[in-house]
Amino acid sequence: MTGTANVETLLEALPYIRQFHGRTVVIKYGGAAMREEGLRDEFATDVVLLKYVGLNPVIVHGGGPDITRYMERLGLEVRFVEGMRVSDEETVEIAKMVLLGKVNADIVARLNRHGQPAVGLSGEDGALFGIAPHPKTDEVGFVGEIEQVDVEVLNHIAADYIPVIASAGVDREGRSYNVNADTAAGRVAAALAAHKAIFLTDVRGWLAEPADEGSLRSRVTVKEIDTALDSVAGGMRPKLEACAAAIRGGAGSAHIIDGRRPHALLLELFTDAGIGTMVTP
Ligand code: ADP
Ligand code: MG
Repeated sequence: MTGTANVETLLEALPYIRQFHGRTVVIKYGGAAMREEGLRDEFATDVVLLKYVGLNPVIVHGGGPDITRYMERLGLEVRFVEGMRVSDEETVEIAKMVLLGKVNADIVARLNRHGQPAVGLSGEDGALFGIAPHPKTDEVGFVGEIEQVDVEVLNHIAADYIPVIASAGVDREGRSYNVNADTAAGRVAAALAAHKAIFLTDVRGWLAEPADEGSLRSRVTVKEIDTALDSVAGGMRPKLEACAAAIRGGAGSAHIIDGRRPHALLLELFTDAGIGTMVTP
């Protein structure tokens, strides 16, 4: 890039920086951006930059591949029903250990290293999530649904730190549950009435034809999601549901973006083009 191009990029970003100052952005972290070493560092750089320029980033993550890897190491069976990890008591115990002890801790450490202190927590901390068993509990076991979100703890942490939320929690009896991370991010964005909810994933966005990356739906409304939802399968479904839930709860917009692209977050937030699927009321 030439010097002039650099200045132009900065000038393009300035109105966004002004607009976003003090605003909350909930980021669902997952996919390639969480798996690949180079992208992990770029993600951390981006989030730290958001905090520096006065945004309030809140990270929500799952732990998919890592949990599976540790389960396999321990000789436990890995099974999914409708995208949900079938979770007996042993599975939940391992999932929680990996999610908090490894995945969450790694994200926190990386943000710290990149220059902004982060604090890791799960649904139990500060009673962030109130959890109830999933309606299909007979099939999926300890998969939880979030009944309520108490953002008090987040507001305290976010005053000085970047909150990093692992999508797990306990019910009233103290039993542990897995929670889908998209669902958790949508509920957190709603409870905070976030300016934006951004979902990083491994496709360009919501595709009209799942096999055709050219069929990106770049702008949709909550109503269009409601209409199409029955025909959407796989991991895209909880994502779209989460976008709709975020906006119904008061978030300004929701975005599904391609986390395989370096600095996808910055491109979405600070350039005129925007990327991926944008969901508006
Ligand atoms: P993440 O780790 O980001 O939650 P998921 O695998 O759970 O990723 O969800 C994203 C996946 O959903 C895509 O990689 C794709 O395989 C699948 N998918 C199913 N239908 C669609 C669709 N209509 N548009 C885009 N992706 C879709
Ligand atoms: Mg998923």
